[in-house]
Amino acid sequence: MGDKLLMVGAGLSGAVIGRRLAEAGHEVTILDARSHVAGNCHTERDAETGVMVHVYGPHIFHTDDEGVWDYVNRFADFLPYKNRVKSTTQGQVFSLPINLHTINQFYGKTMRPDEARAFIESQADKSITDPQSFEEQALAFVGRDLYEAFFKGYTEKQWGCSPTELPASILKRLPVRFNYDDNYFFHRFQGMPEDGYTAMVERILDHPGITVRLETRFDPAQADQWDHVFWSGPLDGFYGFDLGRLGYRTLDFEQFRAQGDWQGCAVMNYGDADVPQTRITEHKHFSPWEEHEGSVLYRETSRECGPDDIPYYPIRLVEEKALLSDYVERARAEQNVTFVGRLGTYRYLDMDVTIREAMTAAETFLSARAEARAMPAFTVDPS
Ligand SMILES: Cc1cc2nc3c(=O)[nH]c(=O)nc-3n(C[C@H](O)[C@H](O)[C@H](O)COP(=O)(O)OP(=O)(O)OC[C@H]3O[C@@H](n4cnc5c(N)ncnc54)[C@H](O)[C@@H]3O)c2cc1C
Repeated sequence: MGDKLLMVGAGLSGAVIGRRLAEAGHEVTILDARSHVAGNCHTERDAETGVMVHVYGPHIFHTDDEGVWDYVNRFADFLPYKNRVKSTTQGQVFSLPINLHTINQFYGKTMRPDEARAFIESQADKSITDPQSFEEQALAFVGRDLYEAFFKGYTEKQWGCSPTELPASILKRLPVRFNYDDNYFFHRFQGMPEDGYTAMVERILDHPGITVRLETRFDPAQADQWDHVFWSGPLDGFYGFDLGRLGYRTLDFEQFRAQGDWQGCAVMNYGDADVPQTRITEHKHFSPWEEHEGSVLYRETSRECGPDDIPYYPIRLVEEKALLSDYVERARAEQNVTFVGRLGTYRYLDMDVTIREAMTAAETFLSARAEARAMPAFTVDPS
């Protein structure tokens, strides 16, 4: 007879862990406060137009992890999809990430790769030898013109602060390509599930050992009613935020509709500081194999996350890291709770990383049980 296990959250973390543990013979219950599974990856067909909408913002699957790629292909048919992002900035439309096309258009030149490399080097601010902030790092890499067009305004809108207040570590390497490659991601495997992410997660959850209950908020005070709890909700939320709230940015999506093709691509960024949106997403372009007359778009803005908002991006500056370590220390003392996923470990995680970590959490649990060892509160270090 297996253990009675609870997954709090029916996102990728809860679904992948739950599936593995149900396959190993445990009795798994999965709760989610929302009315749907798949967490923030949730996709839904718009009733009026038939367009598949990425309800919590655009999600593109990309990975170098072959095991994860095989896993998702067990539960969904992935069709080829390459993310090609544009940016409307200073009255023109440019190609992102900054590539040879962007550089030549921006400076009105026709440079070849080596010429462009030398040119960008000549633009870089060489007086900055030990960059202390995101701004200094960007200036040291690409100089003021490209920094102001593509980084400054966008970053201010996305993070609600000046790039002088953000760490230099955000920009680890030169954010420029000296060729015409405009594929946003470098990963070996990229694609989009034909029927959306929610159908994929529904298939992961389709196992006789799994019971799913939606619109059910779990109260952490009841954790001891289960043999083990996997918590993919907010780490600070498990403790009723009693030490304070870990800082997040939230997003507002203002939906609008159009006929035909409104912007000609899936994602258009807006780099200018005086344009409120960070980007506009036209969802039909995420399913290029489908045809729809109508179109559904999201105008996206970012702001500080309040208590009633959906937490999207963890801020993780000095103050938040101090509070995080207080919560982590407390969580490590839990006997029958493991904190998982993007909220449970307060980190930005792409879907492939979320799935890999969920697989690891499940295997750690199975070997801990097999060897009569305690299951740790974290299977990755959140700090
Ligand atoms: C705007 C945006 C765009 C992204 N784009 C990409 C992308 O293009 N590619 C990519 O790979 N990744 C992307 N991601 C990351 C992706 O969303 C995450 O990897 C994934 O959602 C993490 O899954 P999770 O299960 O850990 O968390 P979630 O999806 O957040 O699931 C957690 C679930 O727990 C539930 N819950 C919380 N507390 C409780 C409670 N007390 N009781 C019951 N239920 C509870 C919540 O309702 C939620 O459904 C993006 C993220 C964001 C924010």
